[in-house]
Amino acid sequence: MPVVKVSRRGANRLKDGHVWVYRSDIVDANGIAPGALVAVTDDRDKPLGTALYSSASQIAIRMLSTGAVHDLSALLRKRIQEAVAYRKRIVHDTDAYRIVFSEADFLPGLIVDCYNDLLSLQVLTQAMDTEVVRQAVLAELAQSLKPQSVIERVDPRVRELEQLPERSSSLLQGEKTSTVFTMNGVRFQHDALEGQKTGAFLDQRENYAAAAQYARGEALDVFCYHGGFALHLAQQCSKVTGVDSSRPALEVADRNAELNGRAVEWIEANAFDLLRDYASAGQQYDTIVLDPPAFAKSKSNLETALRGYKELNLRALRMLRPGGILVTCSCSYHVSSTDFLQIVTQAAQDTHRTVRLLESRGQAKDHPILLAVPETAYFKCLIMSAS
Ligand code: SAH
Repeated sequence: MPVVKVSRRGANRLKDGHVWVYRSDIVDANGIAPGALVAVTDDRDKPLGTALYSSASQIAIRMLSTGAVHDLSALLRKRIQEAVAYRKRIVHDTDAYRIVFSEADFLPGLIVDCYNDLLSLQVLTQAMDTEVVRQAVLAELAQSLKPQSVIERVDPRVRELEQLPERSSSLLQGEKTSTVFTMNGVRFQHDALEGQKTGAFLDQRENYAAAAQYARGEALDVFCYHGGFALHLAQQCSKVTGVDSSRPALEVADRNAELNGRAVEWIEANAFDLLRDYASAGQQYDTIVLDPPAFAKSKSNLETALRGYKELNLRALRMLRPGGILVTCSCSYHVSSTDFLQIVTQAAQDTHRTVRLLESRGQAKDHPILLAVPETAYFKCLIMSAS
């Protein structure tokens, strides 16, 4: 097996339980093939374990094991079985959930989502794209979960960054590409080859249910996509309006409302413009949800991202009736929970409202957080009441 030598800093990171080594901490990886399975040593040749190598990513090494790996396919299959078993223990009230969450399941570079009888798979690294890995993953998914179909969702930007050949999203197994999934009793249409991400924002599943516990009166779901929050709120609220800039997303949201026998008003608009106009027109709500896309894609645009979050939260707080509920989210890893709470606190101060924190939440449990890998914790969801 080829050997990659890492610096003392890289080795210390691994000893602390992290699974990445950045390229700047690689001492020697000459001539190693993209996506290779490699033995990792420190700068004194002491073995540190076995990893997957990327020749393109800044994350050069993703650890698979602190020991030797003799049969990669068998190890991957065992890891998938463990990921499935973990979900069986902790996931309830849904047939749509994440089965494999990359590093958090010790399957770095692989995402697998389940939507009822369909599986959606995403490959994020050179190693996970190799034929031997694909074969092992597909064989185990078929055996463990017996899906009707397996669909691969391709993020072209990820393939470009990993210097992988272009590929389109496609069916890998079976013929079925659409289904209906149910979470917390709410039904959703799913077209496996359409939509954003792998089709839904599964990390919000538990937050939908939590938000519905407090929601009441007239509700506004901003950045509503397929209506995840809106349809959960509609169980409690007298009127629900969903806002998104994507027309295709709203078309699915409308079909979802019909599927659940709910009346929701959908508005195609830029959320920033709409909130500005509604706030200055004195429009009021009892419940507002803010779930924008990741504003901080990297550390470099953190300041701009924080300004974006501040503006949204400020406008939403201005539009809440006394006793109103604000559910505010950030899926930017680079915005820490502390940053996010601080921004929302500043927005509350600027509006002179007394705001009580009801719940501070994160991603659903099927997106596990590894304590040793802080990058696995990316999601913030605050539920608050404003007097
Ligand atoms: N709340 C959703 C997920 C939201 S993802 C759910 O639970 O399923 C972010 C959404 O914001 C996407 O649907 C995207 O189309 C939308 N979006 C991005 N920029 C926007 C903007 N400026 N105004 C309105 N919607 C926007």
